[in-house]
Amino acid sequence: MFVLILGAPGSGKGTQGKILAERLQLPKITTGDILRAAVKDGTPLGQEAKKYMDQGQLVPDTLILELIKAEVSKPEAKNGAVFDGFPRTAAQAELVDRVLGAEGNRLNHILLLDVPEEELVRRLMSRAPVEGRSDDTPEAIKTRLAVYQRDTAPLVAHYAQRGVMHHVPGTGTIDQIAEDIRRIIGR
Ligand code: AMP
Repeated sequence: MFVLILGAPGSGKGTQGKILAERLQLPKITTGDILRAAVKDGTPLGQEAKKYMDQGQLVPDTLILELIKAEVSKPEAKNGAVFDGFPRTAAQAELVDRVLGAEGNRLNHILLLDVPEEELVRRLMSRAPVEGRSDDTPEAIKTRLAVYQRDTAPLVAHYAQRGVMHHVPGTGTIDQIAEDIRRIIGR
């Protein structure tokens, strides 16, 4: 089963994706984590990506498409995975469809975590000192939310036509939201 968790920065994708992946015993693929690891290791991808990440901009598709393809094609994701943090652009969404389709797979469930903007800002600001991310500055947070609206939110309309998208209110407790998701997925 392939599940995509969509939502703005701060909507809880990482938290809920982890709970869901553990329950379904599927790998979670998180492009943000992979990129942060590349930055930390100082790889060529990391060095290039850092410039965009620190500003809250998307890492260009020219750098990210190959990475997504490699991750989604890994043997451990053969029977399913939870995708967190991608696709974020139309080109990434097309690639995901193509790579899954080549194996006779598709996105089975798309969960859209809905959280009002004021709450997103509040969460991102309050986790900033805890997580120490270089893109949790007020400026980068503003950019990340704007970039989500501009580049990623249009995917909602694209996916809505498929009938596998579910809106999940993302403002309850972590347990309540996880329970909503369990009910939607059916396990
Ligand atoms: P995230 O942890 O998902 O909020 O991602 C942190 C940052 O990593 C984003 O602001 C982007 O700069 C970069 N990033 C993560 N995933 C992607 C992606 N799929 N496409 C482009 N940039 C990404």
